[in-house]
Amino acid sequence: MEATTFVLFGATGDLARRKIYPALYNLFLDHKLNHSFSVIGLGRREVADEAFQAMVERSIRDFSRREVKDSASVRSFLKSFRYNVLDVGHTEDYKKLLQRVEQQEKRAGGSPNRMFYLSVGPEFFETIAFNIKQSGLGNAKGWKRLVIEKPFGHDLLSAQELNQKLSEAFTEEEIYRIDHYLGKPMVQELDVFQQSNPVLHALWNNRYISNVQITAAETVGVEERAGYYDHVGALRDMFQNHMLQLLMMLAIRLPKDSSPDEVRFKKKEVMEALESLDEGDVQFNVVRGQYTAGTIQGKPVQGYLSEPGIPAGSTNDTFIAARLQIDDPFWKDVPFYIRTGKRMKEKSTRIVIEFKEPLKQSSSAGENDIPNLLVFEISPNEGLTLQLKARDPQHKGKFKAMHIDFHTSSIEVPEAYENLIHDALHGDPSFFAHWNEVELSWKWVQPILNAFDKNTVPLHTYAAGSFGPAESDQLLAKKGHHWWLDTAEAANGVEEEENDVSLPDASNF
Ligand code: NAP
Repeated sequence: MEATTFVLFGATGDLARRKIYPALYNLFLDHKLNHSFSVIGLGRREVADEAFQAMVERSIRDFSRREVKDSASVRSFLKSFRYNVLDVGHTEDYKKLLQRVEQQEKRAGGSPNRMFYLSVGPEFFETIAFNIKQSGLGNAKGWKRLVIEKPFGHDLLSAQELNQKLSEAFTEEEIYRIDHYLGKPMVQELDVFQQSNPVLHALWNNRYISNVQITAAETVGVEERAGYYDHVGALRDMFQNHMLQLLMMLAIRLPKDSSPDEVRFKKKEVMEALESLDEGDVQFNVVRGQYTAGTIQGKPVQGYLSEPGIPAGSTNDTFIAARLQIDDPFWKDVPFYIRTGKRMKEKSTRIVIEFKEPLKQSSSAGENDIPNLLVFEISPNEGLTLQLKARDPQHKGKFKAMHIDFHTSSIEVPEAYENLIHDALHGDPSFFAHWNEVELSWKWVQPILNAFDKNTVPLHTYAAGSFGPAESDQLLAKKGHHWWLDTAEAANGVEEEENDVSLPDASNF
């Protein structure tokens, strides 16, 4: 990695403390940061360099995946951190920042590269990009890059406007849009599994796959984000970005050793092949839900409308389920079911692939109906499970599930932000959202937003601590499908059955 100044807007904020500093620290421990790497943190608050370094130290002690033990290495890491006061609207602050960046670059030598990371509210993105250009900060002699966090717009039009403004200061190749789901190791493995394993490669199509189920369930409610969340809902907060990105990563068919451009081109192709919904069809393909009071992990919790800061009668969606179809030769007629919600029974993000059963007569899920599944556990645990239907030797004529499991330890696995910051520093955009994907995602979602605005889609309720409204199950039942793994025992991954047979050498899988 070349010498780089990492200019962090929002250096005193929550995201910086919980994710960015711990990620940088772990990259440092893994010797993945150049010795001339330096950070200039920015915010309106007056903070001395020493106090800033103390704040960064606290954050890595509190949030690093690896315990902070070696004080000497912490001191060495913190040496590269400086702080500058900057209000995003004050042009003179950018001039002072430029001086400080230039001083730093002189000290570091080498090619002066600049990475601008916007860990601030989206209302500031345009102003910051404009001022970076105006002040001369954008005239780096080496490369310059802009890293931004979602949300990228509020709907199709606002996303297009934002992109237009950003593109006046940065080219598309210089913009790294973070969707942290793309940084999760298991998501980054999806294409490798299918490219490198001849079994999966052969099965990865509509001949063998019955349906795909993508779930991102949270147990938390709106917490202190009520004002923000009530204008956003599950559709904008999770579905338009994270969930559609998971769909793209699962559905792309990549040649081996694809370049970042090929990855992005193939993702765009998936989005282009996604059958669009008319506003009138939304009610048949999308379930909108909102949680009511219930119980989560034994504790009673209030309903959405009773949460502090939520206006009476809000029709905001806290749950979305949808059926999507990709009209291409590999996926035609394979429904992709996606759901995400707050205050659900368990916290988990997973993709379940259900295979077709060659001799299956009936399409409804019955007592003795054991599906053949491939399950990608994405978070909070990472893992892979193959569930196979097997004969039960103890009960003649019956079947049971056999599981081949592989799970990784969370300490060993790099955090999403580590992977993403590392890739951005190295100029690898494979796991960042290209503008084409963002725009196509908003285009797909826009009829749903319109239908919700006009209230032409019913708002169903679900008790906190459930798996969403009953209508979400009915969405699958219409095609004879069933959400798999919705069980009380599922908290730790795949449901273990009493007579489960785990292969002893499964970890090699
Ligand atoms: P936050 O805790 O509210 O922090 C905001 C930061 O922006 C603070 O450092 C604040 O510093 C700075 N700031 C605010 N107004 C400013 C101004 N006028 N000029 C200069 N600096 C200003 O927000 P956050 O949770 O870290 O989120 C940052 C961004 O990441 C948001 O876009 C959010 O949507 C996105 N994001 C956050 C998370 C998360 O887990 N937190 C996850 C995904 C995406 P001063 O008060 O010192 O100015």
